[in-house]
Parts: sequence; C-alpha cells; structure tokens
Amino acid sequence: MSDYQYDLIVIGGGSGGVRAARVAAIGGARVALAEQSRLGGTCVNVGCVPKKFFSYAAHFAEGFEQSRGYGFQSEHHFDWPTLRDNTASEIERLNGIYQSLLDKAGVELLPWHARIEGPHEVSVNGKRLTTERILIAVGGKPRQLDFDGASKMVSSNEMFSLDTLPKRLVVYGGGYIAVEFASILNGLGVDTTLVYRGELFLKGFDQELREFLRDEISAKGVKLHFNANIVGIEESEGVHQVSLDDGSTLEAELVLSAVGRDPNFDGLGLDSVDVALDESGFIEVDDAYRTSTPSILALGDVIDTPQLTPVAIAEAIRMVAIHFEQRRPAPINYEAVATAVFCSPNAATVGLTEEQARQRYDGLRIYVSSFRPLMHTLAKDDARCFMKLIVDDASDRVVGVHVAGADAGELVQGLAIGVQAGITKQQYDATIGIHPTSAEEIVTMREVTRR
Ligand code: NDP
Repeated sequence: MSDYQYDLIVIGGGSGGVRAARVAAIGGARVALAEQSRLGGTCVNVGCVPKKFFSYAAHFAEGFEQSRGYGFQSEHHFDWPTLRDNTASEIERLNGIYQSLLDKAGVELLPWHARIEGPHEVSVNGKRLTTERILIAVGGKPRQLDFDGASKMVSSNEMFSLDTLPKRLVVYGGGYIAVEFASILNGLGVDTTLVYRGELFLKGFDQELREFLRDEISAKGVKLHFNANIVGIEESEGVHQVSLDDGSTLEAELVLSAVGRDPNFDGLGLDSVDVALDESGFIEVDDAYRTSTPSILALGDVIDTPQLTPVAIAEAIRMVAIHFEQRRPAPINYEAVATAVFCSPNAATVGLTEEQARQRYDGLRIYVSSFRPLMHTLAKDDARCFMKLIVDDASDRVVGVHVAGADAGELVQGLAIGVQAGITKQQYDATIGIHPTSAEEIVTMREVTRR
C-alpha cells in the first residue's frame, strides 16, 4: 500500500467518474469521489435521462393523433408541470441510487468542489488530500456564445425546469441537443424554429440520413432555418427578437442555445499541474488515459472521444483494469460505437457514413430503403422509415448501418453487435426476418441501390 491517503481520488460524479470509483473500490482500492453537485452528472440530471422522458412525452402526443385511425376518439390535454415534476422526482430517486451504489462499493463521497494542487494532491473543503492517482472526470458544460443578447438564451440545463412551456421557441444549433429539443418541444405543441449555421444539420452523420431527417422533421412542423447565424437578441415584455445574419428576424418567448459543450475545467486547478490540452481544448491522454502528468488520468467528456455516456463508462472500466487490475483490455473501437438522436423520428447509426466509407474502400454496395411502416397506414399519416446498409464489396462486410424511424436506437443497438464483430451482408441475407415488423426490412434488402 502506498503512503498516500487514497489510491484514487475521482473528481466528478457523472457516468465515467462514478463507474471508475465503484469498480476500483470494489477491487479493493481506497477511493474518494468529489462531486459538488448531484450525483449522476449531465446524463442523469440534465441530459439523457430527463431528455428521454420528454421525448416519450412528445411521442405520446403523436400517438394520440395516430390512435384516431385505430378508433380512439378521446381528447387529451398536456400538463407541463406534471411531466417536469415527475421527471424531477425520478431524477432524485436516481441520485439516491448512485449514492447507495457508491456507499456499497466503499467509495468515500466528498460532496464539495475539488481542486488539483499537484500530481498527488487535491484540496477539498479546505483540506488537502494525498492520492496515488487523480482521475479527472468532470464532464462538460454548455458552450457560451458572445453576441449582443447571447446571455438571454437558455442552455439545455434550464430546459428541464421551465416554469411554463413557451408559445414559440427558437433553437440555435444543428447537433444532437438542438435537433432533439426541437422535435420534443414541437411534439409538445410549441411553435419551434431551428436555426443552424450550415447547409444541413447533424454534420458528421450520413448525408442521406440527414436529408431524410430534414424532410421528416420539417413535415412534422419544425421550421428549419439553415445557413444562418444569430447575431443579436433583444427582449421586451417576455418576447425575444432574434436577429439573423441573413437579414431575417424571428420572435420567440424562449431561445435555446445548443451549440456544443466544452470540458468543465472551472476551478479545477489545471494551471497548477502539467496537463496538456489539444487544440480543441480537450485533455490529451495516452492509451491508458494518462495525461502529461502520469498520476493524473482523464476520461469521458474531457477527452476527445465521443461525448456519450456508454463511452465514458467503457473508458472508466478500461482505466480501472489497466491501473488497478493489471490487465490490458483491447482498446475501445470508437468506430463501432452506436449512437441515437432522439428526434422525431428517432435516428440511430453505427459504423461509417457513406462518405467515410467511400474514402476508405474501393468498392461499396449501398442498400437503401424508405417505406411507410404498417402502423402509419391506419394512422393515416405519411411518416416514413429509412434504412441504409453500407457494405464493403471486397470483404462483404457491413461497415455502416443508418436507420430513422420509431425506436431506431433499439434496432441499431442489436445491429451494432454484428458491425462490431465484422458481420457480412451474406450473414444478414441468411437471417430470417420477424414479420410483420419494420426491422425485418434490414435482413430483406437484396437490391443494390448504388455502388
Ligand atoms: P454537437 O456538437 O452535437 O452540436 C453542436 C452544434 O452547434 C453543431 O451544429 C455546430 O455546428 C453548432 N455550433 C458550434 N459552434 C457554434 C457557433 N459558434 N455558432 C453557431 N453554431 C455553432 O453538440 P450538442 O450541444 O448538440 O451536444 C453535445 C454533445 O452531447 C454531443 O456531441 C453528443 O455527443 C452529446 N449528446 C448526445 C446525445 C445522445 O446520445 N442522444 C443527446 C445530446 C447530447 P457545426 O455542425 O456546423 O459545427
């Protein structure tokens, strides 16, 4: 045992930090975890979990409409405080579960802000603590913009506790958070406009999937305003005048800024140690999550890997294996990380986009299908589902799967196992579908759409 008071002090009680602390402590390490706010981090408190509840709520609204074609005729009234308060109670319950998981694992919780004082020293609540290793798992915070009136925008953090829903909403950004909130609030009856600086939102996703989502999301009523930047916001009597650089003006009771998230280094003391950052501001780590000071480790949203809860958790487990269990698990295959955007319709994807695959392989077979799922026929709406497989012609391997439609994430999670394992198109073809489902389409796509 070392002379330090702890083997590991984790700073940050989000998905990555809590998992690292628990697994290390269960293995016998002396672990403390500092968290100044609620346990669970962004994901539990102001991210994935409450967002998913809101997304379910928005889908109910759609479902009630669709149910008319199935013979239901009742009227439904949406009560925002019920959704907001039930969500808050559930989060509180989850905070408690996180606390008891840490307790059971034997992790000492330090419910204060922590500052790094040196390679083996952390100050917490006026005390200096020594530790063999420090783990930075502080996650991110909403990126702030700087134009006249920018401070009048709210971030996604505030969206979960609004007193009332606005009549009109402007969402600024074209990434996950912008597209998800635009769909959710539109679904809940808010007049929603999404403003994005580029040609087409969801940069980095498959181009054809993005175009499909543009058409479906705008058909559901979200106004999409691309190729524009917000340059000023003025507020008068609760109404925001939002000025865009294309000369137009929008009016809304609420403006949501969703322009990305940056690592949350506030007051962390990075100036007192040698922890190198890359040019985007993320902490540089080696393949064992060591920063330029080897006793200081970092993972999750503070390093330049996908900002996703399951990624932070996988990194935490791997970090503990390397530093506390003397094991060296294979590196995480970031290319086969499946991800979903909980817009309406849901979109989910794993592997390469067609654009990436064209760069990498000489020949491809692309299979695309867009169809009206059975459920929508009686519902009498025109919503469609999109499925796309990208196959490397030489090896027959499926290198990319892109889906938009109801519960796309549920389908793609299963398909991701195959992509991760190197599944071939022939193996898809040999698989018998489940009828009648939308998902059976994925194993019955036989005609090459293009090469
Ligand atoms: P994203 O990085 O996904 O998107 C940021 C958006 O803001 C992009 O459209 C970007 O434009 C735009 N933008 C960036 N800087 C500016 C600027 N200065 N002015 C105007 N627009 C700007 O970030 P989010 O905030 O949406 O989400 C943060 C992360 O959280 C995501 O990357 C994701 O990893 C994670 N997340 C995951 C979810 C999920 O798994 N379902 C849900 C929500 C978040 P451009 O594209 O042109 O660069």
